[in-house]
Amino acid sequence: MHVDMDAFFASVEQVDNPALADKPVIVGGIKNRGVVCTASYAARKYGVHSAMPALQAHKLCPQGIFLPVRHERYRAVSKKIFTIFAEFSPIVEPLSIDEAFLDITGMEKIYKTLPDYACRLKKRILQQTGIHASVGIAPNKFLAKLASDLQKPDGLVIVEYGRERQLLEHLPISRLWGVGTKTAEKLNALGYREIGDIAKTTIAVLKKYFGIKTATHLWQLSNGIDERQVESERSIKSIGNEETYDEDIEGKVVIERKFLALAGKVGWRLRSKALKARTISIKVRTNNFVTYTRSVTLTEATNFDAVLYDTAKKLFKDLHFVGKVRLLGLTGSGLVHIEEMSLFVNDEKQIKLYKTIDAIKMKFGSRSITKAQLIEKK
Ligand SMILES: [Mg+2]
Repeated sequence: MHVDMDAFFASVEQVDNPALADKPVIVGGIKNRGVVCTASYAARKYGVHSAMPALQAHKLCPQGIFLPVRHERYRAVSKKIFTIFAEFSPIVEPLSIDEAFLDITGMEKIYKTLPDYACRLKKRILQQTGIHASVGIAPNKFLAKLASDLQKPDGLVIVEYGRERQLLEHLPISRLWGVGTKTAEKLNALGYREIGDIAKTTIAVLKKYFGIKTATHLWQLSNGIDERQVESERSIKSIGNEETYDEDIEGKVVIERKFLALAGKVGWRLRSKALKARTISIKVRTNNFVTYTRSVTLTEATNFDAVLYDTAKKLFKDLHFVGKVRLLGLTGSGLVHIEEMSLFVNDEKQIKLYKTIDAIKMKFGSRSITKAQLIEKK
């Protein structure tokens, strides 16, 4: 089951101020700067949508009610929603602040019928928060996410076993998970317009134009095949990022900069899942394809970019190898939930800093704020 709140930020604002109900509420994009975060359905009628530049939104919908983003408030409502999710399934995988996968496999004894179960969940969310949710239920994650979007707002779409291909057949290929504009353009140029066109071909044919991984992914999704499990946060063992470089790299300064970039990514991912890592590992692969890993367990778990970076630097300093570097990785494991940790925090300032960084990343994208050191000279 995939559950997604409808126009989440805008809906929260409308619940908090009932005078705004049915009005074209636009969260974000005030003062003609930045981008729209969420547009209410009334605002969408004017063509306003999320990620649209503020200037354009003001032009399309001059009567729009533009409101500032109140992350703290949305997070509080999100917490309520996730408490409800937990009542409906023991395995909940959050995708963002307002959507999640719920594994309801084998829970037939708990619900009478699938529509009944989904309606109960929708009703509970509405009663507790005043917000409408859309639900998709399907044999796998890809189809469930797709289904929840088909009848928005307040939607409920159930994809029965055996109906996977029929549902997908005439949908545009952009609906496939992970297919961005670039891949979509390439597929269109090759004559693939609908998902059914890809379903009818073979992996071997797709392999002529894409890597084996992408070819398999495209073909499987097009045929409604998706083997990924719903993973609750508790089942996540580690969070890491690695990067293979176009050209082999060398030199302390260059390599440390790469670790700085990796630390920013891993820290952000840890914080967005409310996790801290106790063990930090680095991975270094040389141009001779020798791979080294080194790790250290900290006395205090962390999700601060700066601590991740310092630890990686120290681990790398003690590593001796010959050759240039082809790949670097940074991973945090031994994960602990922030709520489970002691309440004695003495790094208020750091927490404030990262909260601000994360709020910026959430509003403008993960690449919107970075260390000055990482800015490339043009
Ligand atoms: Mg949503």
